[in-house]
Amino acid sequence: MSDKLVIHDVTLPISESLTVWPGDPPVQITQPLHLDRGDPYTVSRLNISAHTGTHIDAPIHFFRTGRSVEALDLQTLIGQALVVENTVAAVLSAETLELLAIPPGTQRVLFRTGNSVRQAQGDTGFCEDFVAVAPDGARWLVEHGLRLVGIDYLSVGGFSDPSTTHRILLEAGVIIVEGLNLQGVRPGVYQMMCLPLKIAGGDGAPARVVLIQSD
Ligand SMILES: [Zn+2]
Repeated sequence: MSDKLVIHDVTLPISESLTVWPGDPPVQITQPLHLDRGDPYTVSRLNISAHTGTHIDAPIHFFRTGRSVEALDLQTLIGQALVVENTVAAVLSAETLELLAIPPGTQRVLFRTGNSVRQAQGDTGFCEDFVAVAPDGARWLVEHGLRLVGIDYLSVGGFSDPSTTHRILLEAGVIIVEGLNLQGVRPGVYQMMCLPLKIAGGDGAPARVVLIQSD
């Protein structure tokens, strides 16, 4: 028997080819110092949005007096998470969520949607009609006691009105994880570790997120 954990890395790699939200700066990675140029070592400089790739949103993203990244509770960011799948729905409304059979008491849920299917087909450009959580879906999640909600695209809220869904979740203290890469992950329960960079005052932060298989 192997004692090796089965670990799914559900984090997007940060590179200059990463898709970013329209209007966000593209990822730029330069090397002010490089061994190839005779420098004693190589040092990279990253120019990225706090909402690059796989990242979390903190309440201060939408609320001036809300918590920022470094104050988020690690007890919420680490623990049992349920991956649920619906690759058919165009939007995660309250009605859709009702059908997903999320067990009572679930604190962390990650949605594997048609976004993952599209990405698996090689569609990596920004698409406006990505699958997101509708405002009534956000209310449903708050009412059902969710503490963390993750999605397989750059925003938990839809393109035409991303703010309402964000505000409902963040106002209730729900941590949002966006840009998850759930392509190879089956529905089920995992141990999640989501560790955003500890950016003081940060409205968001890139995170390394892994799911550890528990069976
Ligand atoms: Zn964000």
